[in-house]
Amino acid sequence: MLTMAGRMAQLGTESAFEVLARAKALEAEGRSIINLGIGQPDFATPAHIVEAGRKALADGHHGYTPANGILPLREAVAADLHSRHNVTVSPDQVLAVPGGKVTMFFAMMMFGEPGAEIIYPNPGFPIYESVIRFSGATPIAMPLYEEAGFSFNAEEVLAKITPRTRLIILNSPANPTGGAVPRRELDRLARGLEDHPHVAILSDEIYGEMVYDGAEHVSLLTYPALRERVILLDGWSKTYAMTGWRLGYGVWPESLFAAAERLAINCHSCVNAATQYAGIAALTGPKEPSRKMVAAFAERRRYIVDALNSLPGVRCATPGGAFYAFPNIGGTGFDSRTLQGRLLDETGVATISGTSFGALGEGYLRFSYAASLAALEEAVERIRGWLGRQDNARAKRA
Ligand code: PLP
Repeated sequence: MLTMAGRMAQLGTESAFEVLARAKALEAEGRSIINLGIGQPDFATPAHIVEAGRKALADGHHGYTPANGILPLREAVAADLHSRHNVTVSPDQVLAVPGGKVTMFFAMMMFGEPGAEIIYPNPGFPIYESVIRFSGATPIAMPLYEEAGFSFNAEEVLAKITPRTRLIILNSPANPTGGAVPRRELDRLARGLEDHPHVAILSDEIYGEMVYDGAEHVSLLTYPALRERVILLDGWSKTYAMTGWRLGYGVWPESLFAAAERLAINCHSCVNAATQYAGIAALTGPKEPSRKMVAAFAERRRYIVDALNSLPGVRCATPGGAFYAFPNIGGTGFDSRTLQGRLLDETGVATISGTSFGALGEGYLRFSYAASLAALEEAVERIRGWLGRQDNARAKRA
């Protein structure tokens, strides 16, 4: 009989991968599936980036690199942050890691332990709550409000801070809601956090370059009073359609960098060398492919928000960023999990139950609109037909 460590029972998961498996199984049975469940761009990595990775392999970049990443990559990150946010970051604070997730795992393992509290967005990326629990810390939910465009309320968040709070996790633009926190709300939170110098801040800005009209992405790095405590999480997965390359980075305060690098050395040694060269090409090369992709998302967003709002029992706030819509489905009479399952089984449309992103996601479904307009239209019409049939059946029973 094998005995695993008790903490393994605390580890959650990302049910997008389970929905993907079920969708694939249905597809294998010959069903027509429209997958709006998975959170990755439906675009190929731009050709010049692929070419840089290929060339790096051909040029013999086959060995280990420094654990923190090759210097030109870290310099490119620092230059990119300067051009996007007008902030100065030393390449020595940049830790290249295999994907965005690694920075969040490291931050939570660094600060989480029994007795510690970590504040995290709910509904939010499911890995936050999962790894907080895994670390032994107590997860403290930061509620996000539909009526506020899925922003938090700064006063409410600040009131949750106790002497045990070690870390607060922010994510804007957000998964799963698409919410982008308005500058004034972030200003209020930042000002309040100045009074709590024992709290570190993990700012997950992986969707930072996907914001749409009116919305704004404000980086936590732009608050000088907090710079000594902000860990920035960013990466290439979304902006450059590079989810499978596994490349991300953290910008760590000087006081935490050595500990983060030590976690990297214990865990993965370094990022795949060729991928790092591809990452340089992404940051220093033409940005047109990324811009085109974001323009396509903007068009799809316009369509899907209107279309979802036209469905009976569904109400959809306009998301400020990322590529997710998070409609309120309370009026359909179904709970989120049931609706997710029945839509997949009975219409072939894969979505993700809001409860996969935390208890406060009940009453919502996540739609990824990283899919063609034609696929989105077909999905909405299938759902409209299905909802209509449920209404008819209900009317007959009444
Ligand atoms: N942070 C958020 C909010 C995400 O939605 C994701 C991916 O879905 C990640 C981080 C992780 O990205 P990566 O695939 O680069 O690990």
